[in-house]
Amino acid sequence: MFNLPVQVRTALDMLSKNGYEAFIVGGCVRDFILGNTPYDYDITTNALPSQTERVFENFRIIETGIKHGTVTVIIDHMPLEITTYRIDGEYADNRRPVSVSYTSRLADDLARRDFTMNAIAYNHSSGIYDPFHGQDDIIKKQIICVGNPQERFNEDALRIMRAVRFSSQLGFEIEKNTAECIGKQKYLLKNISAERIRAELDKLLTGKNVYNVLMNYSSVIEEFIPEIHNSIGFDQKSKYHMYTVWEHIAVAVSKACNDKIIRLALLLHDIGKPFSCQEEGNCRHFKGHAGKSADMAQKILKRLKYENSTSKRVITLISHHSDKFESEKAVKRCMSAIGSEAFFQLIEVQKADNLAKKPFCAERIPKLENIKRTAENLIKSKSCLNVKELAVNGNDIKNAGFSGKDIGIILKKLLDEVIENNISNEYEQLMQFVMEIKNNGQV
Ligand code: ATP
Ligand code: MG
Repeated sequence: MFNLPVQVRTALDMLSKNGYEAFIVGGCVRDFILGNTPYDYDITTNALPSQTERVFENFRIIETGIKHGTVTVIIDHMPLEITTYRIDGEYADNRRPVSVSYTSRLADDLARRDFTMNAIAYNHSSGIYDPFHGQDDIIKKQIICVGNPQERFNEDALRIMRAVRFSSQLGFEIEKNTAECIGKQKYLLKNISAERIRAELDKLLTGKNVYNVLMNYSSVIEEFIPEIHNSIGFDQKSKYHMYTVWEHIAVAVSKACNDKIIRLALLLHDIGKPFSCQEEGNCRHFKGHAGKSADMAQKILKRLKYENSTSKRVITLISHHSDKFESEKAVKRCMSAIGSEAFFQLIEVQKADNLAKKPFCAERIPKLENIKRTAENLIKSKSCLNVKELAVNGNDIKNAGFSGKDIGIILKKLLDEVIENNISNEYEQLMQFVMEIKNNGQV
């Protein structure tokens, strides 16, 4: 018996007391069978949306999904999506059903679901209902379509992305026939919106099996990031590397901490290498590859409709991924340029990058830990790292007789002098420097 939260039990009981069937279904049942605690619950019922609304008339209800038969009920702060048993009609453009209709049979509702592991229903009185033997597949750790994979991917090509991201998240293999159809039909992903692909990519990147998925399904990724094509199989011929560019990327992503931004940066950090390759004898050099990868990443992230803040941060991390910090001043300069939050992420990117090279490169890890400590100490000691932290402000510069753009330029100059330890961050000293600029007559 699964240990359902009280809110879920309440919802199931209320529907059943009113004479309807109701089950939890999909990801939450799969997670229970796997021994994990689900993070959300979907309920499926033969009650029509209007009937569900009546049952929960004393609760807060959100109607946004009503077109698809979904009523969201909030029970004691927990949102529960309650969806009427549904059959999808014909599919248009490999994306979405033209129409949905309701059905009174749970088995029909389960038949429209993507994979057998996601097509299991459960409630306390009936137990598990599993007409497609999803439990067997969960035990076998395999992802297999409900029904004919070719037809299912044709109906909704997003299922291709869902299969690979579940493989990454759960560490399951994709069953042979389902995998073959992915290979043949991956081109259908061109009909899927960037937003939906992006959401799956984010989940894929933070999965525990991401290395295998990036290696085995690179051709699926290529459908929406064709820029990776040249990296796949590209021999680096470098004394630091033992992997091709793509395998290096796959290892780096898998070694990184589980943060979406850091993993996205690693996915794209070296894709400019094949385009910045210089041959020297039997060696290859990749001068300027960080900048080239960052330029390519910018276009990719825009196309995949990542939010501006994510995209900006990922590009910063890629641009600086091969920077070296040999002194405290170098740490300060970079922290000042990109901000301290980005700097700490950069250290994580560099750690993962080095763990994906020849073993001797792991010697960089303790050095990077030291750099991290230096950065932490700079923050603790309230070291001045940006213009706002200077002991003077724009008004002080204005009062010294400057105006317009000059004020910003002078503040930046002061910051540079403080970071280089030429002057200390004290009002008197800073203003003395300002007066020198004034006396020289040149900003
Ligand atoms: P997660 O843990 O990521 O939420 P999930 O399996 O719950 O995984 P959801 O996107 O929340 O995934 O979908 C809930 C359920 O709806 C799935 O388990 C599956 O039964 C069904 N489903 C979702 N998307 C599709 C789809 N594109 N095609 C068919 N069935 C789908
Ligand atoms: Mg879910």
